[in-house]
Amino acid sequence: MKINISGLSEGGHQYDLSGSAAELGLDSNYSGDVLANITLEKSIHQIVATVEASVKGVFICDRCAGEFTEVVRTKFTSVYTWEQTEETAEDDDFHVLRKDENVIDFSSPVKEYLMLAVPLKLLCKSNCVIPEHIEAKNDTVDPRWEKLQMLKQSEKN
Ligand SMILES: [Zn+2]
Repeated sequence: MKINISGLSEGGHQYDLSGSAAELGLDSNYSGDVLANITLEKSIHQIVATVEASVKGVFICDRCAGEFTEVVRTKFTSVYTWEQTEETAEDDDFHVLRKDENVIDFSSPVKEYLMLAVPLKLLCKSNCVIPEHIEAKNDTVDPRWEKLQMLKQSEKN
C-alpha cells in the first residue's frame, strides 16, 4: 500500500489501494483484500493523509460461539512532514520524512488501525442470545432475583 509522493502537486489527491490481508500481516481469520481509500492533501510543509480502510474477517461470537463474518472498518488521519522541529515528536499519526523519501507506505498504519477497530465484544448479531444448552451450564442467579427470592421467603415466614 505505497504511494509515490515525488512530484506530487499541492492540493488534494485520491487513491484507491488494495493489498491482501496476508501481505499486510493480518491474522488468518482475515481473508481477501484490505481496501483503502486514501486522500492526500499536500501543502508546502506537509501532507495530510486521510485513510478509510476495510477488511473482511471471520470471528467467533462471544455469546453463542458461532462463526460469523464481519467487515471491519477504520478511518484515521496521518500527517507527514519534512521538517523536524523541537515540538514535533514522531508518533503514530505524525511522521517525519527524509528529504529523499518519496514513497509513503500505508501498510502498517492501516493494519494497526484495523486491529484497533475490532470490537472488544464480538457478537454475531447485537441481540444474540446464549443457546439454552450453554446457558444451563452457567446457571447463576442474578443478584436482583436473589433479593426477590429472599423477600418472598420472608413473606412466607
Ligand atoms: Zn452469537
